[in-house]
Amino acid sequence: KAAVTESAPVSDSALDTESAKAPLVSLSALTKSFGDVAVLKGIDLEVRPGEVVSIIGRSGSGKSTLLRCINQLEQHDGGAIHVAGKLLDGSEMDAAALAQDVGMVFQSFNLFPHKRVGENVMLAPMLVKGVARDIAEREAREMLAKVGLGEKFDAWPSQLSGGQQQRVAIARALAMHPKVLLCDEITSALDPELVGDVLKVLEQLKREGMTLILVTHEMNFARDVGDRVIFMHQGRVHESGDPATLFANPATEELRQFLGAVL
Ligand code: ADP
Ligand code: MG
Repeated sequence: KAAVTESAPVSDSALDTESAKAPLVSLSALTKSFGDVAVLKGIDLEVRPGEVVSIIGRSGSGKSTLLRCINQLEQHDGGAIHVAGKLLDGSEMDAAALAQDVGMVFQSFNLFPHKRVGENVMLAPMLVKGVARDIAEREAREMLAKVGLGEKFDAWPSQLSGGQQQRVAIARALAMHPKVLLCDEITSALDPELVGDVLKVLEQLKREGMTLILVTHEMNFARDVGDRVIFMHQGRVHESGDPATLFANPATEELRQFLGAVL
């Protein structure tokens, strides 16, 4: 804008610092119903770049619906969602922009069984972003190496363990270079001995500065790696805070009971 060029120059780094402080994901008074069942009853949440936020709560409390609203798999009814400064209002422009800004990994890995691992990772960048095949392949190899599966480019999904398939699903999401990664109980379907490898990948992503919003039952992970815990109860953020404090001193009876059941 003219006003900026005419006034004292603002250095790029000052602008970077400003944008780094702005929330990457911002929800205000978010509501969502299915029929006459109110599932989200006014959620306020701000997630900053590089933050790892764990969402916990009983089955049915609205955790998945919350994530699905953030990446617009569900259209919210009321309130506002901003991702990377953009207001999501359900338009097609949103869908295209979101495919780039928000990655999501699910409990069921949903790999394409008839495509090799590498092709699974290359597909979205090529189809959604128009990335050339050779570049998509190079990036896919890079992302697979990042999740510890550099040698599995030519394997079929069915040849991999559940934990490996889930790491491919993470690589596939990362190949789109999302600004935030949403994970919905991504270790819940895994045999216990395979959970650690997937959590290690998340830990590494945090170290690299990735913003993560995870619905998880892994309380140790939430405590040791997460920056903040959100406890959802009946469609509301019932309690939230620093993991160590929240787990040691739950303020509400509902969180106390939940932790008693899962810890
Ligand atoms: P959580 O992930 O915490 O277990 P969900 O967000 O999946 O909770 O579900 C919250 C509530 O919304 C549940 O009562 C569930 O039955 C209901 N629900 C979720 N998705 C749908 C849908 N597509 N249609 C109708 N009801 C739904
Ligand atoms: Mg769920």
